[in-house]
Amino acid sequence: MAKSPHILKTKVGIIGGGPAGLMLSHLLAKTGIENIVVEMRDHETIRNTHRAGILEAQAVSMLTDSGVDSRVLTDGDEHAGIDLRFNGESHPLDFRELVDATVTLYAQNEVFVDLSAARQRDQGDVRYGCEVTEILDMDTSTPKFRFTDAQGNQFEVHADVIVGADGSRSFARRQMPQTLCQDFKVTYPFAWFGILTEAPKSAPELIYANSPHGFALISQRSENVQRMYFQCDPNEDVNAWSDDRIWAELQQRVDGPDNFQLKTGPIFDKTVLGFRSFVREPLSHGRMFLIGDAGHTVPPTGAKGLNLAFADVKVLFEALDSFFSTGSDKLLEGYSDLALKRVWKAQNFSYWMTSMLHTPVGGDPFMAKRALGELETVTSSRFGQQYLAESYTGWPHA
Ligand SMILES: Cc1cc2nc3c(=O)[nH]c(=O)nc-3n(C[C@H](O)[C@H](O)[C@H](O)COP(=O)(O)OP(=O)(O)OC[C@H]3O[C@@H](n4cnc5c(N)ncnc54)[C@H](O)[C@@H]3O)c2cc1C
Repeated sequence: MAKSPHILKTKVGIIGGGPAGLMLSHLLAKTGIENIVVEMRDHETIRNTHRAGILEAQAVSMLTDSGVDSRVLTDGDEHAGIDLRFNGESHPLDFRELVDATVTLYAQNEVFVDLSAARQRDQGDVRYGCEVTEILDMDTSTPKFRFTDAQGNQFEVHADVIVGADGSRSFARRQMPQTLCQDFKVTYPFAWFGILTEAPKSAPELIYANSPHGFALISQRSENVQRMYFQCDPNEDVNAWSDDRIWAELQQRVDGPDNFQLKTGPIFDKTVLGFRSFVREPLSHGRMFLIGDAGHTVPPTGAKGLNLAFADVKVLFEALDSFFSTGSDKLLEGYSDLALKRVWKAQNFSYWMTSMLHTPVGGDPFMAKRALGELETVTSSRFGQQYLAESYTGWPHA
């Protein structure tokens, strides 16, 4: 006879221990709201997965002001602008001067290290290596989910609220009734070839380059490690690319009369990152709420994904705090509409940056020239520069 699962009772059951799930768990615990996080992957795997790197000032404040850690202020690298490069020329945008704001380069791995350490320090209940495989009763006041741990023990979490923070392939999202939801999506005919290299910085600020050979992003990680991307086919095989071939490809995308030269070094990580724009509406059903990539994904060009995840957390945390302290679900009911306002602004910005900077597939000369016209418009107008700077550094949290 099958053994019945161990029952775990809590207020908020969180599926997924990425930045969104762990940040929500931390904020709830600080307010005395009991919660459990169940994460499919092990700690080491998440720590070694290279992803986002750019934090808006408000995301930085969420880490520091809530007592996660202030390491982002010492180990992070504050950036006051970016460089838009096209027709072989650089056009620096000074965010501090334009909108009095900056962003901070701090790798998502470090955000994860800080958040997971804070949950451990505060004796939070975070279970790694446990995949949630079933969600029950999400439209009742006692939603539940089931998972199995690495030893094969089965558990059932009984909560007042369930949160799907389980990333872009979200299991939680797929359990919502399809007839009551709508998905909005765009897939792009290109991807990014990303590398990590042991090399000195090529430039002080990030370079977003539009070139006839395709887009390139020259970004930094630390004094000795750099992150770079170039536009590629979504089916590109990383093994077909030697270090020399990659450097030649990147260099030709930033070539110009100023003879700008990338600083090269050994490449120790290569990945192809396919991207899409996606939004699920609404971001909730009954007592289950989606946050972060589970509810929406953006192409990485605008560096919005992790920031948007934190913005969702802020809105949902306040709604949950109100729910558990007053019993009123008014803010919970408004969560989806409020979070989606920012989501669509970020979708627009990410789509705009992507279409302006990438080379159209098929080589449509009109579209390529149009994108250059748009870059010229943005960089030659203070209003254009300010629009980009304000969107890139982030709108105020709701
Ligand atoms: C290469 C790359 C570069 C990026 N660059 C940037 C950038 O510069 N700036 C930026 O803001 N964003 C960037 N992003 C996006 C950013 O990484 C994501 O938006 C961010 O990780 C979202 O956090 P999340 O917690 O919502 O989801 P995730 O980080 O995906 O976390 C979800 C977690 O849920 C777990 N999970 C999934 N299914 C289950 C299940 N059934 N049971 C239990 N656990 C489960 C997963 O293992 C995962 O750990 C980038 C993304 C990539 C891939």
